[in-house]
Amino acid sequence: MTGQVLEADGIGVRFGGIRALDGVGLTVRPGEVCGLIGPNGAGKTTLFDVLSGIRRPDRGRVLLDGADITRRSPVWRARHGMRRTFQRQQLFGQLTVADHLVVAQEWRGGGGGLGADLLAAPTRRAYEGRRRERAAAVLRACGLDALAGQYAGALPVGQARMVELARAVADPPGVLLLDEPASGMTGDEKQHLSAVIRHLAGEEGCAILLVEHDVAFVMELCARVVVLDLGRVLAEGTAAEVRADPSVRDAYLGSG
Ligand code: ATP
Repeated sequence: MTGQVLEADGIGVRFGGIRALDGVGLTVRPGEVCGLIGPNGAGKTTLFDVLSGIRRPDRGRVLLDGADITRRSPVWRARHGMRRTFQRQQLFGQLTVADHLVVAQEWRGGGGGLGADLLAAPTRRAYEGRRRERAAAVLRACGLDALAGQYAGALPVGQARMVELARAVADPPGVLLLDEPASGMTGDEKQHLSAVIRHLAGEEGCAILLVEHDVAFVMELCARVVVLDLGRVLAEGTAAEVRADPSVRDAYLGSG
């Protein structure tokens, strides 16, 4: 999968009387890590829900490589190269780390959509073997190979977060939405996470949008930063531009 262009165009979402998003537009391009920051309740998670197809916007469009995907399901989006991680951890405690990456890969058994159970055993084993090889390569790239056989339920927070990222890229994505991937991580883990994210964008060409409360982490990693406040884009630019913007300092950085 090569990188894709993800666009939000004039997105509006209301929850009763609350305007969670009010005409939000942004673009993330292949090879780019774009940061999305803003105070609590700014609308970051709601925007992620709209981009990944969990929530239909009241107005506006989501575009993938220029095609309107606003009405496409989350599963359709995942099959077409979009992946997302969540703010709250979502691992299966009784699956091993490696198994998370094996089951996350799309079944490519062929046979006109036949499931694994309908394939002859040797064919099934060959496909299974390929998925395990890919899982092992991704775990290596994420520095998780030593944990491959461990149950996910036993992992400390930082490692569990890293497994979530590895699972999201088990099939190489074109677009990656990361919702607070650094939360609960130690300083060393954050540095490692940063390096892996850079690799995914720089070497694999992935378009990455990253929501994160750790502003220093975002500013250091992201070439471009978008600031949301009260459901609107308050500012957008390089880390230095955003830091220097007085409206951002007033609404967000000054208080954080
Ligand atoms: P945080 O940084 O705290 O995660 P956020 O920037 O992700 O915040 P959202 O969770 O998207 O912000 O919330 C945006 C606004 O929409 C807030 O005012 C929130 O209270 C409201 N909101 C979000 N989800 C719902 C919902 N399901 N029902 C009603 N209001 C909601």
